[in-house]
Amino acid sequence: MTTPCIITVAITGSVPTKKDNPAVPITVSEQVESTQASFEAGATLAHCHVRNDDGTTTSDPERFGRLVEGLRKHCPGMIIQLSTGGRSGTGRERGGMLPLSPDMASLSTGSCNFPTRVYENSPELVDWLASEMVKYDVKPEIEAFDLSMIFQAVKMEKDGKIKGPLHVQFVMGVKNAMPVDKDTFDFYVATLKRLAPDATWTGAGIGAGQLMLNRWSLEAGGHCRTGLEDNIRWNKEKLAPSNAALVKRVADLCAEYGRHPASVAEARKLLHLKAAA
Ligand code: ZN
Repeated sequence: MTTPCIITVAITGSVPTKKDNPAVPITVSEQVESTQASFEAGATLAHCHVRNDDGTTTSDPERFGRLVEGLRKHCPGMIIQLSTGGRSGTGRERGGMLPLSPDMASLSTGSCNFPTRVYENSPELVDWLASEMVKYDVKPEIEAFDLSMIFQAVKMEKDGKIKGPLHVQFVMGVKNAMPVDKDTFDFYVATLKRLAPDATWTGAGIGAGQLMLNRWSLEAGGHCRTGLEDNIRWNKEKLAPSNAALVKRVADLCAEYGRHPASVAEARKLLHLKAAA
């Protein structure tokens, strides 16, 4: 029996706008609707940011609260993961929604360059975000933009700052950070296995790298992330029609690798999360 594949849908992020792709969900109701369609297409984990109605990004806990409420109602059992990423706020503002106790939240364990700026995660901020996640029983997803962030996450788990087992996401293809590179990907997988044998992982590729990372991850026994946050295109010729279409593409791909999309129960078990209410 092969490992089921947890499909994460990153519905909106903070960068793409309706001008880039009209299917990018901006308002809370659009986000709930887009996530529900993705859930029905096979996604069991929603990675969420929130936007102001004009499309700009925010970390407003009230808006996150309305989104969480909508998702709990319309996507029963789906794993809700809120972003503490640096494009939506600065400093501790980024963790202001953790008291909502989502199932998971993203946590970058180091700094790197992004397309137009530094993605700044000071040791003090990383430790604070991690401690809030412990306090509110939120499982971190470690966003690894380079190798050092994997080592840092393992160290934090050993030091008791993160509750294990770790779940790590390998992010490839962000401009000025780690590119989409197979040898590096293989080394990430091997290194995580060596340092934290009980860890789970997901591969996330940006732009055209999305489908590539989906394939590599399915082949190597990991989990997959897709969605309009990372990639607004279907292929060179056309835009992706929706988040759900991108999810369905991964769900269909699973069979090629002898895998199947995880159910809610399977996904929660694999990530050591409590069963759906
Ligand atoms: Zn994100």
